[in-house]
Amino acid sequence: MTGTELEMTPAEVANRARLATLLGRDWRLLVGGELIPAAGGATFPVTSPIDGAHLADIPNADQGLVDQTVQLAETAFPQWRDTDVQERGRLVGMLADLIEEHIDDLALLDAVDGGAPISVMAGDVRQAAKICRYFAGLALELKGETIPASRTGVHFTLRQPFGVVAKIIPFNHPILFAVSKLAAPLVAGNTVVLKPAEATPLSALYFGELAQKAFPPGVLQIVVGDGPAVPRALVRHPSIRRIGFTGSETTGRGILRDAAEVGVKDITLELGGKNALIAFPDTDPAQVAAGAVRGMNFTWSGQSCGSTSRLIVHESIADAVLTAMVKQLAEHTVGSPLDPAHHQGPVVNRTQYDKVVGFIDEARRMGAQLVTGGGRPANVSDDGFYLAPTILDRVDAGWPVATDEIFGPVLSVIRWGNDDDPVAIANSVQYGLTGSVYTNDLRRAHRVANALETGYVWVNGTAQHFLGTPFGGVKSSGLGREESIGELLSYTQEKAVHVII
Ligand code: NAD
Repeated sequence: MTGTELEMTPAEVANRARLATLLGRDWRLLVGGELIPAAGGATFPVTSPIDGAHLADIPNADQGLVDQTVQLAETAFPQWRDTDVQERGRLVGMLADLIEEHIDDLALLDAVDGGAPISVMAGDVRQAAKICRYFAGLALELKGETIPASRTGVHFTLRQPFGVVAKIIPFNHPILFAVSKLAAPLVAGNTVVLKPAEATPLSALYFGELAQKAFPPGVLQIVVGDGPAVPRALVRHPSIRRIGFTGSETTGRGILRDAAEVGVKDITLELGGKNALIAFPDTDPAQVAAGAVRGMNFTWSGQSCGSTSRLIVHESIADAVLTAMVKQLAEHTVGSPLDPAHHQGPVVNRTQYDKVVGFIDEARRMGAQLVTGGGRPANVSDDGFYLAPTILDRVDAGWPVATDEIFGPVLSVIRWGNDDDPVAIANSVQYGLTGSVYTNDLRRAHRVANALETGYVWVNGTAQHFLGTPFGGVKSSGLGREESIGELLSYTQEKAVHVII
C-alpha cells in the first residue's frame, strides 16, 4: 500500500495542511543573536520517516561557522556570568512560556521529522517547559559552603561557570532535549552552543527563531550540520571545556577520545541502555505485562534510552505475562504519527529500520520464538519505516538481541527458573542505565534494587522519570547525572577561597 492509497483521517489532513505553512520557512541557524544561513548557502535535506518525503533543506554548518559561534559565545560569556543569578533563572523560565505558546507547532514538527505520535510529542514540550522552570527555580542553590578549616581564617567555596558549554543531543526526543538540556548550564552562568541531531533538527531550529531575542546575543546559539563534522569541531574546540552529550555509546567514546586529544574537558555522557525488567513469581502477571509494555516505550517505537528491552521473567508466570501483553498490544495502533489516534509511528529512518529488522531476523534464526510483531505491520504505508511491537520469547541472555541496544520496538524475553540468578542475568550486559523489579516481597525489592548495576531503578514500575531525582547510567551507559540539582551544579566549578584574619 502507498501513502496515497491509505485514507487519511480529517485530523491528519488538517495537520498536513498546517505543516505546509510551517515547513515553508527559511530554515536558519541561531548565531550571535542572528538567524543565518550556512556559508555559501550550503544545505542538507531532511526527510520524513512517514513516507520518505522531503521536508526541508537545512543550513549545513562547517568548521568556520563553529569557530565563529564559539568565539561569539566566549565574547558573550563575561556579561552573562555577571548577570544576576535570579535574572538568569527568570530568562530560562521564560523559555518555558515560549515553547508552551507554540506547543502545537513544535509537536507537529517533531512528529513529522522523528516519527513519534503527535499526541505524545506535545507531552515532550510540556516536560521541557517543566524542566526549564525547575532549573530556573533552583538558581539560588548555586551556592558554596563555609568550612571551619582553621581558627585563623574564613574558608568558603564559590561555584563558578565553565564558560562556553557544548550540548550535543540525539534524534529521539528532539524538542524535549533541545530545550531542557540548555536550562541547567544557562542558569549556572555558561553560554551554550546547542547541536541538534541532523536526523531531527526542525523543532530545535524553529525554537531558535522563538528564542532569538530571549537572551543577549551569543548566550544561546544553535548550529547543525550533516554528519559528525560540526559536533566534532565543537568537541575539539580548545575554548569549550564542558560538554554535555546525549547519544550512543560509540559516539560517547569517540567524544572522550577526541576531547582528550586536545585538552582536559569535563564531559557528561548520557548513553544507551539494554535495560532489564526482572519479574519474580510472587507478582501479578497482569501488572508485569502492563509495566513491560509501558517500559518498552513502544510509543517511540522503542527508541528511548530507558526502555526495558529485556524481560527477565520467572518461568512460572511467563506464559500469563506474555498472554496479557499480547492482549494489551492488540489495542495498540501503529500508523501515521500525524493522526492523534495512533499510538506509535515509524522508526526514524531506513538505517534504523534495517538494523531492527536485522536483529529480529538473526534472533529468530538463533531459535527465538516470535510472540507478536516481527516486522512491518499490516495497513501502514509501504513508504514509511513502520515496525510492529515485537516480542521474542525464549531468548538466550547471551544472544546479540539480548545484549546490544537495538533502539527499536523489540522486547527480548528471557525465562528463568529457581536455579538461575535473575540479577546476574540483568547485570551481564555492558550497559547500566535503568532497571526494574516486580515483586511483592519488600526485602527482596530492596536487595535487588541495591544489586542492580544501573543508575535508575523502579520497583513495581517502569519508564517514568521523576524530576528532581538524578538520572544517568553506570558502566557503558554514561557519566554524570541529569534532571536533578546535580545537573545544575555540574555546570559549575568549585573554587575555595581562604580569607586570613
Ligand atoms: P548518536 O550518538 O548517533 O548521535 C547523537 C548526537 O551525536 C547527534 O547530534 C550526532 O550528530 C552527534 N555525533 C555524531 N557523531 C559524533 C562525533 N563523532 N562526535 C560528536 N558528536 C557526534 O545517537 P542517536 O542515534 O542520535 O541517538 C540514539 C542513542 O542515544 C541511543 O544509544 C540512546 O540510548 C541514546 N540516548 C541516551 C539517553 C540518555 O539519557 N542516556 C537519552 C536519549 C538517547
